[in-house]
Amino acid sequence: MIEDEPRIADFVTHGLEGAGYAVTHAADGELGLACARERAHTVVILDAMLPKLDGFELLRLMRQDGNTTPVIMLSAKVDLPYRLLGFETGADDYLPKPFFMEELVARIKAVLHRHSAPVHTTPQVLHIGGLSLNLITRKAQWQDVSAALSPREFSLLEYLMQSPGQIFSRKKILAHVWEIDFDPETNVVDVCIQRIKRKLGRKSESAPLPIESVRGVGYRIRTQEAL
Ligand code: CA
Repeated sequence: MIEDEPRIADFVTHGLEGAGYAVTHAADGELGLACARERAHTVVILDAMLPKLDGFELLRLMRQDGNTTPVIMLSAKVDLPYRLLGFETGADDYLPKPFFMEELVARIKAVLHRHSAPVHTTPQVLHIGGLSLNLITRKAQWQDVSAALSPREFSLLEYLMQSPGQIFSRKKILAHVWEIDFDPETNVVDVCIQRIKRKLGRKSESAPLPIESVRGVGYRIRTQEAL
């Protein structure tokens, strides 16, 4: 917490300690910035009006450092331009003074929850041509045929579909899917591929599944470019 008013600093410290947090307090902007640079914190409670270095400038410098710690700004300046300045500078939340301790604790929890929530930067469904693989339900679909895959079948198909067009040797597939890094001289890879093809195959195929065997080398997912 970076706060210069002793009365508020005490109030927040006691409140947060009561809620189970350990609090480090800095009483001016320069000390606050040094503290933020010195070690990682779970969340920063930042007063806007501070001696030596004001809260907005402090926050700007923190973000410039690449510090992504969640920041909740506290301020008696409740006017919209100040709140917007806070958000534009990189605050995660802005709480006008006076405030209730319960609200500050609730906002800390909300900010921490948002920060820890998984961000889906990777797709949940892989699509290659008419073939799709749902990474959550682990079901594969080829045209109008849908099938549940066993863990190995899923792992193998996901591995190939993550890099369409790339040829994977049986050895690489064995290492990735079965975690076997020697050649056991089995045909488990081929058998697994056949099972996937059977599950997704249709009686009268208008187009073959884009899982392609490359003779003497391994397998790949055929893409338009690879045709
Ligand atoms: Ca102040």
